[in-house]
Amino acid sequence: MSEHFDLLIRHGTCILPWGAEATDVGVRHGRIAALGVPAGATAEHTIDAKGLHVLPGLIDPHVHLRDPGDKAVESIPTGTRAAVLGGLAAVFDMPNTAPSITDGEKLAWKQDYVEHEAWCDMGLYVGGTKTNIPELAKLELGRGVCGIKIFAGSSTGDLLVEDDEHLERVMRSGRRRIAYHSEDEYRLQDRKHMFHRGDPHRRHMEWRDVECAFLGTRRLMALARATGRPAHILHVSTAEELDYLKDFRDLATCEVLMNHLTQVAPDCYDRLEGFGVMNPPIRGPEVRDACWRAINDGTVDTVGSDHAPHSREKKMLPWPDCPAGLTGVQTIVPVMLNHVNAGRLPLTRMVDLMCAGPARVYGVVGKGRLAAGYDADFTLVDMKKQRQIEDSWIVSPCGWTPFAGMHITGWPVATIVRGNVVMRDDEVLGAPIGRLVRFAG
Ligand SMILES: [Zn+2]
Repeated sequence: MSEHFDLLIRHGTCILPWGAEATDVGVRHGRIAALGVPAGATAEHTIDAKGLHVLPGLIDPHVHLRDPGDKAVESIPTGTRAAVLGGLAAVFDMPNTAPSITDGEKLAWKQDYVEHEAWCDMGLYVGGTKTNIPELAKLELGRGVCGIKIFAGSSTGDLLVEDDEHLERVMRSGRRRIAYHSEDEYRLQDRKHMFHRGDPHRRHMEWRDVECAFLGTRRLMALARATGRPAHILHVSTAEELDYLKDFRDLATCEVLMNHLTQVAPDCYDRLEGFGVMNPPIRGPEVRDACWRAINDGTVDTVGSDHAPHSREKKMLPWPDCPAGLTGVQTIVPVMLNHVNAGRLPLTRMVDLMCAGPARVYGVVGKGRLAAGYDADFTLVDMKKQRQIEDSWIVSPCGWTPFAGMHITGWPVATIVRGNVVMRDDEVLGAPIGRLVRFAG
């Protein structure tokens, strides 16, 4: 009797952990049952992936879906629709919502909500505050929790732990890797008086300067060394930090953002004004080049979008009233595929950054590689497809992208989550089947 599967993906080029191979994939009960399938095998559904690359389901480990918050800007249902349209099988969602996710009750609400409303799988960050430190050791072990997030410098929301005493106490509560927004809050506040309402948007990168980020990371690394607590430095935005972190590989992993790899000052501020403002800021070409060097020498562990939507109205306020944050969950995969086609990184490295990287940093269980027994998460991409990114394609209710007008070569054409085809050719299919990602505690 020949083998029977729930789903077969035939004739694609698979990005396996050990390289690209032309092979067929068989799926049963939501998991990868076979790599290499006999010609006579049958299935309930077969996808012909001829001419396509079959990637493990891509993960964006850094999004802000703003839920609870203002549904006219973004929510978990809309943000995860955007994710699957953009080729993501899972996203890890930040806790600085309104209210923030900082205790067991709010976490329980979100765990339940995600499993009813999300279109892709989700990991959840819990926010650390000065008042919930004793509970962090328990909260970080919650179902679907990818880690504790600490804002050591202020950004959107009310989460902030800026002083060494409280940061050290956070590091001594629990043991999993902590994700940090690293900018020195004191330097931010000290320099605020130098800037004025209505200054050009490019002043954003002068206020939140290189030393602000580098000083934040030096302080965090000193405390991480003293406590032995593993750290993940989110959105590294300076050559200095990328160089410095090479001496902390025993303790620290790091992320760079798709935006810092793609956009450059002053162009982003002159052209996009408030729609180019994010934290840490987009800086000059030397930073973009340093980020690429760190992608290609292996310093960087993960690439995220830091999808952080705000309404058009708020983004059009004069600097610095325009809130910081850009959309990106729907565009990160096309933009990164375009970088692959431009020769900036190999497709295998992109998969490493968006699958194996998040798995290694956060301790993901059963996702992030094409291997028997792993979740049947796939992103099918057409490396030759050309398309322009447009605001009209964006399904986040805020309705804008800083990449509108960008010509892209390489596009996600299907997203499959645990064997469910949730996106095919720009159409979201079925019902929200998202589950919480599992993590090694
Ligand atoms: Zn963020």
